[in-house]
Amino acid sequence: MDFSLTPEQEALRQEFEEYFTEKEKQAPEGWFTAKVDYCYEHDEAWEFHRTIGKELGKKGWLSLPWPKELGGQGFGQIEQMIFQEVRAYHRIPGFDPGPVVAAAGVLERGTDEQKKKWLPLIASGESTWCEGWSEPDSGSDLASITATTGVLDGDDWVISGQKVWTTGAHRCSHIILLARTDPTAPKHKGITYFLTPMDVPGIEVRPILRMYRGHSFNEVFFDGFRIPKENIIGEANQGWYVLMAGMDFERTGVSFVAETRRDFDELIEFIKEHGYDGRSPAEIAVVRHKLAQCQIELEIWRQWAYYVASLQSKGAHVPGEASSVKRVGSELMVGVSQVGLEILGMYGPLQNSSKWARLRGAFEYACQHDLGMTIAGGTTEVQKNIIAWMGLELPRK
Ligand SMILES: Cc1cc2nc3c(=O)[nH]c(=O)nc-3n(C[C@H](O)[C@H](O)[C@H](O)COP(=O)(O)OP(=O)(O)OC[C@H]3O[C@@H](n4cnc5c(N)ncnc54)[C@H](O)[C@@H]3O)c2cc1C
Repeated sequence: MDFSLTPEQEALRQEFEEYFTEKEKQAPEGWFTAKVDYCYEHDEAWEFHRTIGKELGKKGWLSLPWPKELGGQGFGQIEQMIFQEVRAYHRIPGFDPGPVVAAAGVLERGTDEQKKKWLPLIASGESTWCEGWSEPDSGSDLASITATTGVLDGDDWVISGQKVWTTGAHRCSHIILLARTDPTAPKHKGITYFLTPMDVPGIEVRPILRMYRGHSFNEVFFDGFRIPKENIIGEANQGWYVLMAGMDFERTGVSFVAETRRDFDELIEFIKEHGYDGRSPAEIAVVRHKLAQCQIELEIWRQWAYYVASLQSKGAHVPGEASSVKRVGSELMVGVSQVGLEILGMYGPLQNSSKWARLRGAFEYACQHDLGMTIAGGTTEVQKNIIAWMGLELPRK
């Protein structure tokens, strides 16, 4: 089996490399991570994210895998993955769920009019998107949502109720919203999928702080929030199936591998050059073995992510495989960040702001941040359920 990229893909990778290497030099003072939540947590990080997002939009890089006739670049999922990998490795933000999740719904289920309305806005980088899915009593079993309801009133749906854990709701211009619109139908068949701007009366966003005090997610409350009926993607009450179109692509996201790989590469360089008490950690067998194990697993994860992208490039719907990438990846992020923290010893838990912090505190942040990745987008247990059911075709219950 030949895992190498085609010459065209290699040339594209080179183009991304040159651009993102340059952008990395323009990052704000103290910038040390591309982890997605960081952008929402700090004003200067958000500014950088917005500036880069618009630049990526101008270059056509937010719409790489969309068909050319719909404003995309006509590439496949592999090219999209190369882009995500190089971008994240250089710790450059600028990407949100809009181009992947919202666009997947519009591309697959949107009307011609909706494609004309939403795709250019998403591709330009002028809009930023959050995902209004989870509710206080519905996370893993998302199809059971009941807290956010929609009732048709003339030409508008009127939305009431609550979402929770909505990443970026305090910053984003638009939301992908799921609401219960038919409480009498079976749970998967009474949900509607809306795309809507956030600057509409009847919405209140309240912060929830992470364990490290970062503000990336929120509670969102709706009271008489109106969405025109033309903003439904797919049909009313069929929103579950629109949502599923975007989830696989989110779960195979390779950018997380690249973020962790970058931290890991810097750790390797660091311990080659620095020691404590006259001895380098690089000489200690247990450290060497831990690092070797990380290296093996990072490479397996990356190859697996590319393999799944290659299936998706051929139009295959592979939820079992996508879930296994998510499962392996998120757990490995946690594992690598813990290895980094341990190896840095007493310096490991110091924050970026401390003068004694090593590697700009990247592992301190990663350790606290990455745990959430095993929950976001579906927990590890839920991914295993999907693999058992859809990957191994075991009975659903
Ligand atoms: C960093 C982060 C960002 C997030 N961003 C967003 C966002 O932008 N938008 C959004 O809508 N949501 C977001 N979420 C919410 C996320 O999608 C949910 O937290 C997740 O789906 C789990 O749901 P829950 O919190 O309700 O936990 P629950 O579903 O209550 O799960 C609790 C525990 O039970 C286990 N469990 C549940 N069901 C099963 C089962 N059938 N079999 C075995 N075990 C099971 C779970 O694995 C978990 O350990 C985010 C979460 C995090 C951590």
